[in-house]
Amino acid sequence: MRITEVTSVRVPVPLVDPLRTSHGTHHSRTVSLIRVTTDDGVSGWGEDVAPSGVRYVGDSAEESFVSLRGLAPLLGRGDVLAEDMQSDTWWGVGGREFAKHALESAVWDLTARLRGVSLATLLGGERARVYPGVVVGLHDTVDETVAAAASRVLEGYVRIKLKIEPGRDIDVVRRVREAVGASVTVQVDANGAYTREDSGRLSLLDEFGLEFIEQPFAADDLEGHAELSRRISTRVCLDESIVSLADLRRAVGMGACSVVNIKPSRVGGIGNAVAMHDAARDSGTDAWVGGMLETGIGRASCLALASLPGFTLTPDLSASNRYFERDVTEPFLLEGGAITVPTGAGIGVEPLPWVSGHPEAVIETLFSA
Ligand code: MG
Repeated sequence: MRITEVTSVRVPVPLVDPLRTSHGTHHSRTVSLIRVTTDDGVSGWGEDVAPSGVRYVGDSAEESFVSLRGLAPLLGRGDVLAEDMQSDTWWGVGGREFAKHALESAVWDLTARLRGVSLATLLGGERARVYPGVVVGLHDTVDETVAAAASRVLEGYVRIKLKIEPGRDIDVVRRVREAVGASVTVQVDANGAYTREDSGRLSLLDEFGLEFIEQPFAADDLEGHAELSRRISTRVCLDESIVSLADLRRAVGMGACSVVNIKPSRVGGIGNAVAMHDAARDSGTDAWVGGMLETGIGRASCLALASLPGFTLTPDLSASNRYFERDVTEPFLLEGGAITVPTGAGIGVEPLPWVSGHPEAVIETLFSA
């Protein structure tokens, strides 16, 4: 297919409830959507979820927007096939994973729409519904954290992921576990806030029956994670450490983790995420789809991915109302603890009219043939 236009739509969307992690606090998002259109006038949508105002791996939202402007014209250089768009080879430049994902995921949506199938079907998804987990961010007091976790369980979530950092860890997990009981799956995510010297402290988490501890150490400390995996009984999951298929193979090979969090936006695209899903499945490693505060556009493609059979654990893909009063698409709802994987063509959703009509919306043509 030939892509003749790439458009960016940016619109501010406040978060219902600021999310604090050891990287910083997310207060609001400037949602950055990408529309790719063919010469026949068919469009696909993607979302750039690079974070703003917090440290994370890869580009910030501002840097990623610059990357989008640079990369978008590459979609006009001939016939484009979503299956060919590996982030490390197709674009001819390294890094810029968030921008590459935004453009590539729009091409996947377009491809599925043109073939008249859902993205989940196109990718080989098997689940009609996924049972998502929900993130409980850092709070000032243990009581506030317990209250937030208890509220999420009342809403129907079957898995809670607690953000932790040094000084807000053992007591928090103990109290939350007491409050939610043994039947709720509890995980913790440190976003790299600890060092190897904290290994003894982290071993204290073993008594709480956690599903895993996610990214305790810095992204580049695979050896530290391997040591910790040998030392504690709680499983180690890696997130920020795994940007590429090679990273995943290296980490699994050295025993640095037995679980991986695969975020299509962080790994440069849906194609890469599927390749990493396949590698995890083939090596017997549990994998799940992580979230980056996606709106309905990014959430829909993450749900399609999470329907693949090798994503063995619950994804971080909460209902729209967990983060947004008004989502950019029809909202995703939690029903009986589950979210339905869209079945319409492509990602199955589109931005609602209010998005481009928003008084602060910025619409920019990034490429036009
Ligand atoms: Mg994480």
